Amino acid sequence: MNISGKTVVITGSNSGIGLGVAHEFAKAGAHIVLNSFSDRDEDHALAEALGKEHGVTARYIQADMSKSDQCRALIEKAGTCDILVNNAGIQHVAAIPDFPVEKWDAIIAINMSSAFHTTAAALPVMRKAGWGRVINIASAHGLTASPFKSAYVAAKHGVIGLTKVTALETAEEPITANAVCPGYVLTPLVESQIPDTMKEYNMDRDTVIREVLLKRQPSKQFATVEQLGGTCVFLSSDAAAQITGTTISVDGGWTAL
Ligand code: NAD
Repeated sequence: MNISGKTVVITGSNSGIGLGVAHEFAKAGAHIVLNSFSDRDEDHALAEALGKEHGVTARYIQADMSKSDQCRALIEKAGTCDILVNNAGIQHVAAIPDFPVEKWDAIIAINMSSAFHTTAAALPVMRKAGWGRVINIASAHGLTASPFKSAYVAAKHGVIGLTKVTALETAEEPITANAVCPGYVLTPLVESQIPDTMKEYNMDRDTVIREVLLKRQPSKQFATVEQLGGTCVFLSSDAAAQITGTTISVDGGWTAL
């Protein structure tokens, strides 16, 4: 894949898809920068273990993606950034009139604005290196909508728009920008929604998974973090050098319906 020795910065990568993406890049020989807002020993230990497992350099850099200055500081602290994966994300479910303003602000900041700030800081670094890849983890909800997810749907549609503009502003350079749109992946983010959904629909866990989560996913299977990571590795490869400004869905056919 020709990405051995490249440095990849992945926002929100101490769990779920971000951590899975980190493992796939490390397997391909890339050096890893993990990130989240927390600064616990276990976060740093996660990076150390990942580096040891794959024989690459792996560091953990604390930065809160809800803060513009910390988004930019993450890239500065990383020192180099050949591949940027904007993955940090949160979710909240409520009807529009009841949607807490602080939740709206946090979702827009973490899920969308952070990608703008990290990209703004990373593009000059990539230009200096003469090569770069920006990969934004959007969602099937960046292409479709669901009731009660106003901030998430708005942020993910925005991320896809930002991806297209990034691609156009770098089109003549050896830099690409693409969005990856997962359907449902069974990560802590999705797990956290299951208990409320069980209560709301009076269903057991298996029925919620089958009848609510996977209902819109024709494959009737969750995508895996390894599959998401593999897609990001592919987008970083030479084979994908002319793929820019597009979205790749990893959603078991959700958006084909
Ligand atoms: P997750 O909760 O496991 O991971 C989210 C990550 O973001 C965590 O590492 C968390 O620490 C980090 N994060 C949260 N707030 C942060 C902040 N302020 N600063 C820095 N990091 C922060 O969830 P996930 O499912 O792995 O989600 C990862 C991305 O994939 C998100 O952007 C999400 O919207 C997207 N996505 C997930 C699914 C799914 O089904 N799991 C589907 C579509 C899109």
